[in-house]
Amino acid sequence: MAAKKRKKAKAVACVLCGTGTLKRGLTTVSLTGGNTTLVVKAVPADICKQCGEPYLDESVAQWIHERAESAVKRGAEVEILRYAA
Ligand SMILES: [Zn+2]
Repeated sequence: MAAKKRKKAKAVACVLCGTGTLKRGLTTVSLTGGNTTLVVKAVPADICKQCGEPYLDESVAQWIHERAESAVKRGAEVEILRYAA
């Protein structure tokens, strides 16, 4: 009796809730450093269908990180950007 191989085409599950699958979409990312708050809209990410946690591509995260550093250097209190690759 050959055991059936159950090969589930498992989508990458969310590490936060453990059950949600990720779906490509756009999200808003906000981060705070010191006195600076940076908000980036329309950020492409893999978003958990279950809990809504966004997973950013490395290049996107890098882009946001650079903008955040620049905003902190300029001493901006609040900066709102729209993501543009
Ligand atoms: Zn999740």
